[in-house]
Amino acid sequence: MLKKVLIANRGEIAVRIIRACAEMRIRSVAIYTEPDRYALHVKRADESYTLGEDPLAGYLDPLRIVNLAIETGCDAIHPGYGFLSENQEFARLCEEKGITFVGPASSVIHRMGDKTQARDSMRAAGVPITPGSEGNLANIDEALSLANEIGYPVMVKATSGGGGRGIRRCDTPEELKTQYPRVISEATKAFGSAEVFMEKCIVNPRHIEVQILADSQGNVVHLFERDCSIQRRNQKLIEIAPSPQITPEQRQYIGNLAVKAAQAVGYENAGTVEFLLTGNEVYFMEMNTRVQVEHTITEQITGVDIVREQLRIAAGLPLSYRQDDIQLRGFALQFRINAEDPKNDFLPSFGRISHYYAPGGPGVRVDTAIYTGYEIPPYYDSMCLKLVVWALTWEEVIARGQRALDDMRLHGIKTTASYYQQILNHPDFIRAEFDTSFVPTHPELLNYSEKRHPSEVALAIAAAIAAHAGW
Ligand code: ADP
Ligand code: ADP
Ligand code: MG
Repeated sequence: MLKKVLIANRGEIAVRIIRACAEMRIRSVAIYTEPDRYALHVKRADESYTLGEDPLAGYLDPLRIVNLAIETGCDAIHPGYGFLSENQEFARLCEEKGITFVGPASSVIHRMGDKTQARDSMRAAGVPITPGSEGNLANIDEALSLANEIGYPVMVKATSGGGGRGIRRCDTPEELKTQYPRVISEATKAFGSAEVFMEKCIVNPRHIEVQILADSQGNVVHLFERDCSIQRRNQKLIEIAPSPQITPEQRQYIGNLAVKAAQAVGYENAGTVEFLLTGNEVYFMEMNTRVQVEHTITEQITGVDIVREQLRIAAGLPLSYRQDDIQLRGFALQFRINAEDPKNDFLPSFGRISHYYAPGGPGVRVDTAIYTGYEIPPYYDSMCLKLVVWALTWEEVIARGQRALDDMRLHGIKTTASYYQQILNHPDFIRAEFDTSFVPTHPELLNYSEKRHPSEVALAIAAAIAAHAGW
């Protein structure tokens, strides 16, 4: 087994990995930059090392991180998600320097991280892909003629994109002409690559993704699907496992497709194959070659500890489960509690958490790195907490979600929590009838009034009295 692992990440996912290490008696090494000096992952790891003043540079420096892993006697690096997790150079450097990278081979990251190459691999393997480009688009003329061929609406997408950025829908040639250069400039800024490609826009699809695990002996299993259709601007807000809106036959078909996709590229470790569904049509969209933000809900419905399996696979051990061992039980929801103000166009709301009380009770799981008094730095993701609930039935899991959101106290910053209550109360959500258009087509759900905690009300009254009295 691995003895010591460096976690090349921060926030809740670093804490999640440190917890898995602790349970497996593996020593954990955290890294941090100055704004994270008081972060939970730094305190919780067995050892922590600073990588300088700059908020981001240290987390994004492959050579420095790999050298630190060597100097501190680590045998492996877990990259988490985001940052260097899908950076092939980082994985290659680990391979060269004899440090185990907890993820697939650098060549596989390269192949799947490039969305047009991934499409090529899937086409060759007989996995259905969305109609669209073969390779990248050379220029706007090629884009216009391809769009004519496949029919509007189309999507222009960044080839190296991720995190929901660098994707634009175009309904007419005029829109394509204005959006095309915008995607190129967004892609260049966000991903350091100007390459873009085109897909037919699947109108109002469901986003269904399959978690897979693959070991170094060639065994591949899937852990069923997640429904991530509740999105805003191509970014996931609430994730659901399993999807309440597919049939057992569809479940089996998509699960097998994901396994086929993984086998086709010689995949190893945990990964996710994302699909778009419309009616009975299924299209491969992309593969994420890392642990995903929403791996938690799959853990809740299967009982499989995905991060533990990642570490075992990296150590060369065979999978702990065969496909038949993996049973689906109940439903799980994950709410991405973001430090954002939904009423103000989801503007980030960084600042000090004046009071935090974690929800608990049956079927409730919280993955976070925040605590009362913690100051959310403005340099990173706005996601500050993942609230996960599990129950045996769809009706119960909704009620549990409502109850757990109600239990939680998170003051000092604006969050998306109350907005999620509105979604859970909506009849279409309750009936399990929604697709990726749900959030944009229900702007009225933003018209809620924020419930305030008695202590906050008392503070507000005290402040008003003080102001009135001229104190
Ligand atoms: P998931 O697929 O696990 O739901 P997200 O798409 O929400 O993950 O991304 C998780 C984090 O990783 C976010 O911080 C996002 O900005 C970042 N990220 C994802 N893909 C990329 C990429 N290709 N390049 C840079 N950052 C990325
Ligand atoms: P990222 O790498 O940023 O996660 P994806 O390719 O996974 O990008 O797409 C993110 C989201 O954008 C999808 O979940 C879906 O809602 C939307 N999307 C992407 N491609 C299409 C498409 N061809 N048709 C319709 N929606 C799409
Ligand atoms: Mg995606």
